[in-house]
Amino acid sequence: MLKKYIEKDWKQVLTSEEYKILREKGTEPPFTGKYLNNKKDGTYVCAGCGNPLFSSKTKFDSGSGWPSFLDIISKNSVELKPDNNLGMKRVEVICKKCGGHLGHVFEDGPQPTGKRFCINSLSLNFKEKK
Ligand code: FE
Repeated sequence: MLKKYIEKDWKQVLTSEEYKILREKGTEPPFTGKYLNNKKDGTYVCAGCGNPLFSSKTKFDSGSGWPSFLDIISKNSVELKPDNNLGMKRVEVICKKCGGHLGHVFEDGPQPTGKRFCINSLSLNFKEKK
Protein backbone atom coordinates (compact mmCIF):
# COMPACT_ATOMS: atom_id res chain seq x y z
CA MET A 1 0.00 0.00 0.00
CA LEU A 2 1.48 3.31 -1.08
CA LYS A 3 1.47 5.68 1.85
CA LYS A 4 0.79 9.25 0.80
CA TYR A 5 2.89 11.99 2.29
CA ILE A 6 2.74 15.63 1.37
CA GLU A 7 6.01 17.31 0.42
CA LYS A 8 6.03 19.43 3.56
CA ASP A 9 6.00 16.30 5.72
CA TRP A 10 9.08 14.97 3.94
CA LYS A 11 10.92 18.18 4.77
CA GLN A 12 10.21 17.46 8.42
CA VAL A 13 11.27 13.80 8.42
CA LEU A 14 14.30 13.94 6.10
CA THR A 15 17.55 15.88 6.34
CA SER A 16 17.98 18.45 3.56
CA GLU A 17 20.58 16.17 1.93
CA GLU A 18 18.22 13.17 2.01
CA TYR A 19 15.38 15.32 0.69
CA LYS A 20 17.43 16.39 -2.34
CA ILE A 21 18.03 12.78 -3.33
CA LEU A 22 14.81 11.02 -2.31
CA ARG A 23 12.24 13.68 -3.22
CA GLU A 24 14.07 15.72 -5.89
CA LYS A 25 15.91 12.86 -7.64
CA GLY A 26 19.36 14.21 -6.85
CA THR A 27 22.61 12.25 -6.87
CA GLU A 28 25.21 12.29 -4.12
CA PRO A 29 28.77 12.92 -5.32
CA PRO A 30 30.60 9.64 -6.06
CA PHE A 31 32.90 8.17 -3.38
CA THR A 32 31.25 10.24 -0.63
CA GLY A 33 28.45 7.98 0.60
CA LYS A 34 28.57 6.49 4.07
CA TYR A 35 27.70 2.97 2.86
CA LEU A 36 30.08 2.75 -0.11
CA ASN A 37 32.60 0.63 1.77
CA ASN A 38 30.26 -0.91 4.34
CA LYS A 39 30.95 -4.66 4.39
CA LYS A 40 28.84 -5.61 7.42
CA ASP A 41 26.04 -8.20 7.23
CA GLY A 42 22.55 -6.79 7.26
CA THR A 43 19.73 -5.18 5.33
CA TYR A 44 19.59 -1.84 3.57
CA VAL A 45 16.22 -0.13 3.97
CA CYS A 46 14.70 3.03 2.49
CA ALA A 47 15.85 6.15 4.38
CA GLY A 48 12.41 7.62 3.82
CA CYS A 49 10.06 4.87 4.94
CA GLY A 50 12.07 1.86 6.17
CA ASN A 51 11.01 -0.48 3.34
CA PRO A 52 13.59 -3.33 3.05
CA LEU A 53 15.46 -2.88 -0.24
CA PHE A 54 18.77 -4.75 -0.50
CA SER A 55 20.67 -7.47 1.36
CA SER A 56 24.37 -7.07 2.13
CA LYS A 57 24.76 -10.49 0.47
CA THR A 58 24.18 -8.91 -2.96
CA LYS A 59 26.40 -5.84 -2.41
CA PHE A 60 29.51 -5.64 -4.56
CA ASP A 61 32.26 -3.16 -5.36
CA SER A 62 31.44 -1.79 -8.81
CA GLY A 63 34.12 0.90 -8.77
CA SER A 64 31.43 3.47 -9.64
CA GLY A 65 31.63 5.34 -6.35
CA TRP A 66 28.11 4.39 -5.24
CA PRO A 67 26.87 1.39 -3.25
CA SER A 68 26.05 -1.31 -5.80
CA PHE A 69 23.84 -4.37 -5.56
CA LEU A 70 23.13 -7.39 -7.75
CA ASP A 71 19.48 -7.65 -6.82
CA ILE A 72 16.62 -6.37 -4.68
CA ILE A 73 15.57 -8.14 -1.48
CA SER A 74 11.89 -8.66 -2.38
CA LYS A 75 9.35 -7.93 -5.07
CA ASN A 76 7.93 -5.24 -2.78
CA SER A 77 11.22 -3.32 -2.67
CA VAL A 78 11.32 -1.14 -5.75
CA GLU A 79 9.65 0.03 -8.92
CA LEU A 80 11.58 0.71 -12.09
CA LYS A 81 10.86 3.67 -14.34
CA PRO A 82 12.41 4.81 -17.65
CA ASP A 83 14.46 7.98 -17.14
CA ASN A 84 15.65 9.92 -20.20
CA ASN A 85 16.91 12.97 -18.30
CA LEU A 86 20.31 14.43 -19.15
CA GLY A 87 20.16 12.84 -22.62
CA MET A 88 20.80 9.38 -21.18
CA LYS A 89 18.53 6.38 -21.42
CA ARG A 90 18.54 5.06 -17.89
CA VAL A 91 16.20 3.14 -15.61
CA GLU A 92 15.31 4.87 -12.37
CA VAL A 93 14.94 2.83 -9.16
CA ILE A 94 12.17 4.06 -6.84
CA CYS A 95 11.06 2.79 -3.44
CA LYS A 96 7.84 0.86 -4.01
CA LYS A 97 6.39 2.00 -0.71
CA CYS A 98 7.07 5.76 -0.59
CA GLY A 99 8.09 6.58 -4.16
CA GLY A 100 11.46 7.95 -3.05
CA HIS A 101 14.26 8.12 -5.63
CA LEU A 102 17.00 5.59 -4.83
CA GLY A 103 19.26 5.53 -7.90
CA HIS A 104 19.43 3.70 -11.23
CA VAL A 105 19.84 0.13 -12.45
CA PHE A 106 22.18 -0.86 -15.28
CA GLU A 107 22.54 -4.09 -17.24
CA ASP A 108 26.33 -4.30 -16.88
CA GLY A 109 26.55 -6.02 -13.51
CA PRO A 110 28.30 -9.29 -12.72
CA GLN A 111 26.61 -12.70 -12.79
CA PRO A 112 24.34 -14.25 -11.66
CA THR A 113 21.93 -11.34 -12.31
CA GLY A 114 23.93 -9.18 -14.70
CA LYS A 115 22.36 -6.19 -12.98
CA ARG A 116 23.97 -3.28 -11.17
CA PHE A 117 21.67 -1.38 -8.85
CA CYS A 118 23.56 1.87 -8.34
CA ILE A 119 22.11 3.44 -5.19
CA ASN A 120 22.74 6.63 -3.23
CA SER A 121 23.88 6.05 0.36
CA LEU A 122 21.65 8.98 1.34
CA SER A 123 18.60 6.98 0.19
CA LEU A 124 19.50 4.12 2.53
CA ASN A 125 19.63 3.18 6.16
CA PHE A 126 21.50 0.07 7.26
CA LYS A 127 20.14 -2.45 9.75
CA GLU A 128 23.05 -4.57 10.92
CA LYS A 129 22.39 -8.27 11.46
CA LYS A 130 23.08 -9.03 15.10
FE1 FE B 1 10.61 4.34 0.87
